[in-house]
Amino acid sequence: QLTQRLSRVVKTLRGQARLTEENIQDALREVRMALLEADVALPVVKAFIERVRTKAVGQEVIGSLTPGQALVGVVFDELKALMGGNEAPLQLNARPPVVILMAGLQGAGKTTTVGKLGKWLKETKRKKVLTVSTDVYRPAAIEQLATVAKAAGVDWFPSKASEQPIAIAQNALAEAKRRLYDVLIVDTAGRLAVDEAMMQEIRALHDALQPTETLFVVDAMLGQDAVNTAKAFHDALPLTGVVLTKLDGDARGGAALSVRYVTGAPIKFAGVGEKLDGLEPFYPERMASRILGMGDILGLVEAARKEVDEEKAKQLAKKIQSGKGFDLNDFREQIVQLRKMGGMTALLDKMPAQIAQMAGQLPAGSDDKMIRRIQGIIDSMTPEERARPEIIKAKRKQRIAAGAGVTVQEVNRLLKQFDQTQRLMKSLGKGGLKKMMRGLGGVL
Ligand code: GDP
Ligand code: MG
Repeated sequence: QLTQRLSRVVKTLRGQARLTEENIQDALREVRMALLEADVALPVVKAFIERVRTKAVGQEVIGSLTPGQALVGVVFDELKALMGGNEAPLQLNARPPVVILMAGLQGAGKTTTVGKLGKWLKETKRKKVLTVSTDVYRPAAIEQLATVAKAAGVDWFPSKASEQPIAIAQNALAEAKRRLYDVLIVDTAGRLAVDEAMMQEIRALHDALQPTETLFVVDAMLGQDAVNTAKAFHDALPLTGVVLTKLDGDARGGAALSVRYVTGAPIKFAGVGEKLDGLEPFYPERMASRILGMGDILGLVEAARKEVDEEKAKQLAKKIQSGKGFDLNDFREQIVQLRKMGGMTALLDKMPAQIAQMAGQLPAGSDDKMIRRIQGIIDSMTPEERARPEIIKAKRKQRIAAGAGVTVQEVNRLLKQFDQTQRLMKSLGKGGLKKMMRGLGGVL
């Protein structure tokens, strides 16, 4: 398991002042295994390890980081860099109609992505979108796009299986110009494996349409097999971006690295579900976390250092460790700190599993608003109630609910969550708690 490998990396380097060729040898072997397990293609892994070696050797270990953490930091940064570093937005500034050509194997998710992308462009970018299918080989393909477009709320240009793909594309483009569409998305046929006829056809479509974006759609579940497909499409077409689909499954994320490495094209979107809202802009940082199989520990520590009131956190930790119990005052304090660190949603992404589990005791999908409500409820309690929640019975609940402007049920829910958190804190024990607090703020 990746997390274990990486924590081994951290351990092997304990007590070293700087990273050297010798002392990172074992650690790099672990990283290499971790990447292979994440389904990254071998040549990509090799090149990657060399980059990390060059970057890491000689690096001073700063501040309170252990050398192992420093190396994991380098690995994380390089993973992110390998996937383009930052988000890569869709190019929409060209003269309309902006043409988006979809390429990829059969089953990759092209048709579905046309719908998702159309919906996304319409709803978040306020674009007038026309879609068209040039897939004349499978009888149901054109119908499938018609259905998808309708569900997505975007227009569909009729095509027939008896027509030539190039002619369809040209007609659709003319229509898009005539009726002043902002964007034309062109769906294409795919084969089960790369073949020359398919490549020729998509090249011809590319010539005819001169698209602003040529997106290579690839199934993340393909893992390292994605490399060969990506290479073939990259050789045939000037790809401008990649859509990595089916990331909602148990894809380990390796395809993201390999595809980006082979094509040089940025991953622009991630498909995260069969439904039409299952499309998200791609964030290299999140994928790097996923590949490493851990939360962005360093980022969390950094964010926490900036914002958390270290003194308060120390007191809180001491209090719990002294066995004086974890009460609602502490719970509130923790929530305030979570808020300072950017709300639950932002935070959950960054948290290693054990901390996320604790945070998981808060209501699912907690966001800043939810946290504020919880805080409001606790604020409506008396100090005594906060210290001894067990005295909060029906009457008090009603008063608290009225004070916070919530229902009694919400107060009940909060008390239950607090109870669960308290239990979890107890079960974590001293060692576990210390670890958690370090994760939360690097403050112990
Ligand atoms: P095409 O042959 O490339 O046009 O692929 P389709 O768009 O027809 O998709 C093939 C299958 O993959 C369909 O069953 C889709 O519902 C499914 N699919 C596409 N994208 C995603 C995704 O992001 N997540 C999941 N779970 N399924 C997807
Ligand atoms: Mg299709």
